[in-house]
Amino acid sequence: MVTKVGQLSAVHTEIYTCTLCGLHSGRTRTVPGAGNPNAEILFIGEAPGYYEDQQGLPFVGKSGQYLDELLKQIGLARDDVFIANVVKCRPPDNRDPLADEMAACNPYIRRQIDIIDPLVIATLGRYSMGMFFPNARISTIHGQAKYGTVRAYYPFFHPAAVLRDSNLRPVMESDFARLLTVVEEVKRRRANDEMSATASDDANPPTEIDPESPKQMGLFD
Ligand code: SF4
Repeated sequence: MVTKVGQLSAVHTEIYTCTLCGLHSGRTRTVPGAGNPNAEILFIGEAPGYYEDQQGLPFVGKSGQYLDELLKQIGLARDDVFIANVVKCRPPDNRDPLADEMAACNPYIRRQIDIIDPLVIATLGRYSMGMFFPNARISTIHGQAKYGTVRAYYPFFHPAAVLRDSNLRPVMESDFARLLTVVEEVKRRRANDEMSATASDDANPPTEIDPESPKQMGLFD
């Protein structure tokens, strides 16, 4: 039986040479994702920024430092979680990823979700939120868990948005403080057969992001 490490490695090897969308032409390195293949929490951000593109690792700039700080506040470190993005290549000038780019890249994050099989998918920003909460506004639903048939989905603001607006910092930290409670609730539901631990993911297909939703400029490091 192929281990999770082996399965993820196979997906990441495909990503390294992927040319399925136009973003491949401007990238320095792909950023498949990194972390613990057995993580209970999978964080999904939006797209690599400058430093991620240079290093091939997710969240390594200022947003990443803030994410590390948030994890530490709840007793976690990077090695405890897995971090990936909706698209694996940096959009030019850090523009928002386009719908066709997200659609082309979507099978990779789906396969990562299936392999890691996290208890909670924690979305960072509105693009990853849009995969699981279509047409929702992040300002309305952040910090509110949605319990699916196999796991929970928990939306956060993007760390870069919080760094740009310090008023969001207490909100973000409050949302983070409840994350492990959501993990425990999924464990309880699975133990009581209120959730399946084996069904495939029950997330919505990728959708267009509501153009009226508040735009988070400069979401990248
Ligand atoms: S963003 Fe995704 S689909 Fe597009 S080239 Fe990169 S890995 Fe392939």
